[in-house]
Amino acid sequence: MNFDASRAKAIEKLDNFVEKNLSEYSKLRNFDYGPNNRSNTSCLSPYISHGVINEKEVIIKSLNKYSFSKNEKFIQEVLWRTYWKGWLELRPNVWTDYLVELNKIRKEFKDKQNYKNAIDGKTNIECFDQWVVELKENNYLHNHTRMWFASIWIFTLELPWQLGAEFFMQHLYDGDAASNTLGWRWVAGIQTQGKHYLANEWNIKKFTNNRYNKIKLNENAPPKISEKTYPIVKQDFSNQNINDRNLLIFENNLSFETSDFQNNKFKKIYIISNKNENRSIKLSEKVIKFKSRLIQDQIQRLKNNSIDYELIDISEIKNINEGIIALYPTVGENLDYLNLNNLKLDFLYRKLDQFSWQYCNKGFFNFKNYIPKIVTTFN
Ligand SMILES: Cc1cc2nc3c(=O)[nH]c(=O)nc-3n(C[C@H](O)[C@H](O)[C@H](O)COP(=O)(O)OP(=O)(O)OC[C@H]3O[C@@H](n4cnc5c(N)ncnc54)[C@H](O)[C@@H]3O)c2cc1C
Repeated sequence: MNFDASRAKAIEKLDNFVEKNLSEYSKLRNFDYGPNNRSNTSCLSPYISHGVINEKEVIIKSLNKYSFSKNEKFIQEVLWRTYWKGWLELRPNVWTDYLVELNKIRKEFKDKQNYKNAIDGKTNIECFDQWVVELKENNYLHNHTRMWFASIWIFTLELPWQLGAEFFMQHLYDGDAASNTLGWRWVAGIQTQGKHYLANEWNIKKFTNNRYNKIKLNENAPPKISEKTYPIVKQDFSNQNINDRNLLIFENNLSFETSDFQNNKFKKIYIISNKNENRSIKLSEKVIKFKSRLIQDQIQRLKNNSIDYELIDISEIKNINEGIIALYPTVGENLDYLNLNNLKLDFLYRKLDQFSWQYCNKGFFNFKNYIPKIVTTFN
């Protein structure tokens, strides 16, 4: 698998997928044919999660090829991400609590053999051990495999979901506070209370094209239970006065020239890099390198457009003393840094998020009803 860190390559991947594989997406998307045969899904998540390409342009390209009804499944999947983001924005304490719990559990499990076996891929569950290698080598796993992996981690290996979510964040190129944390909570049965996802041998065999045998799993475990409930926190996602300020761009919005704000006038653009010193979850070297290459690619495009920019570390934001405004980094490590350091910034929210997040108060099945309405705002 190859994830070249550039917008040009991302567009090439998108165009190729739309041309050759989109028509079969809803039929084939659940199959994991292995890392050498990944054409049945788009593999765009490392780019979408960094804003190198955005949901809107992906959906528009798909609609230029096929009708909404033929594309519905793909569009729904693309907007799952937007939904998870909005869901977490309305309940940011889910993320904060996750990090607090993780900190505690990490210490407890640091030396436990079953945890070490899991992250070293030495569990004797053949498929799981191979997925560990694949995750570390390719920094990507198929969606169905992420579900099986998380389910085996929680219900067969009996490890805390918080540690599994950390392991994913450390190695995935698309690691994202919302999709990842809520994906793990969903598998555990605490996202939709009482409904968990139990992987089973039959399902894994079928959707991996019989690549694995002898998969002995706990197929009867009850869902995990969490006492915590998270009422919605009212938020204001409206944009402040934009022009003539310094703009900060974090790692989630790395395509300024295609953003909603491309035509606004900013004094200077600061691209913010966040290495491991200021993260609660320390990322693998490969993931840090991937982010840094994506940043370099964005810088090259700013240079090509003669836009004044500077690359700075997140710890240097405090040194910019003139009016700052930032493309909203969303709930996660970068926003945590701003909050922890009492850096109160004005934010700019994408139109897609402003419009969609109002529908994230309930479940995805409710959100789905609004997808046609969301898509009409793209015109
Ligand atoms: C436990 C678990 C952890 C996950 N962690 C992450 C994560 O950290 N970052 C991340 O981007 N996705 C995460 N996902 C969601 C999903 O697995 C990936 O987005 C998807 O596998 C990416 O592959 P693709 O680009 O080929 O997807 P495609 O099937 O081609 O879908 C197109 C796009 O839609 C979005 N998408 C598709 N499925 C989902 C989904 N279930 N949830 C949210 N967005 C989706 C992605 O942006 C994806 O690129 C997780 C899922 C699970 C079950």
